[in-house]
Amino acid sequence: MRLRWCWPSRAEDRFESWLARRHEERVFAGESTPVGPCPDEAFLRDLARRAKRIALSDPRVAHAANCPTCMSRLLVFRQENRSRQRRRTLVTAVVLCTVIGAVVITIARYGMHRQLPSANLAVVSEAVNLWDAGTIRGNQPGSLQSVFLPAAVVRVTIILPRFSPPGEYAVAVTQDQNGNGVVAQRSAPATINGDHVSVSVELDLRAAKAGAYFLATVHEQDQASYYYPLQIK
Ligand SMILES: [Zn+2]
Repeated sequence: MRLRWCWPSRAEDRFESWLARRHEERVFAGESTPVGPCPDEAFLRDLARRAKRIALSDPRVAHAANCPTCMSRLLVFRQENRSRQRRRTLVTAVVLCTVIGAVVITIARYGMHRQLPSANLAVVSEAVNLWDAGTIRGNQPGSLQSVFLPAAVVRVTIILPRFSPPGEYAVAVTQDQNGNGVVAQRSAPATINGDHVSVSVELDLRAAKAGAYFLATVHEQDQASYYYPLQIK
């Protein structure tokens, strides 16, 4: 990328001030007649572009600096060059913005697909019935059967224990009964089907190693948390 389109180089500045000095000298010296014939348009266009191959000692340059006709043509060519440069800069900026936009959109889409695996992945549906789980009191070993879930993206529908209040529930898979080591977590409002209250969420358990975990339900209104033993296969 050449950014010299946008700003004149130091050499260009030097050329411009040299041209201005020559012009001033001409005015102070009272010179009104330029030396030699007017150079052709190609030369003036080159001069307006400050082509490197034009030496400042070239008599045509001295002529152009002293000749009002050549000067006004030079100014027109300069203006043309500048607007062409501006257009190029604008096109470059638009292309750059488009490329950056496309990259940002791609990254955003990639990130969304990572967050929403259901968009392009098979989802396994699993039902978990905790209807009688609420009736168990104390730590009675073996009294509560483990829930089994696969290490996949699971749409798990949980029938909550009897007397569970309606409302928003957070469902999580954790590594212990204190809510540490959250493997996956989602929230959803519970739905009432007859006397059952159930909540359905999608959990991404693909990263979980097979083993023992806990399925946690948290009623978001009163923050009541319940943990149920869970096996991931
Ligand atoms: Zn001239």
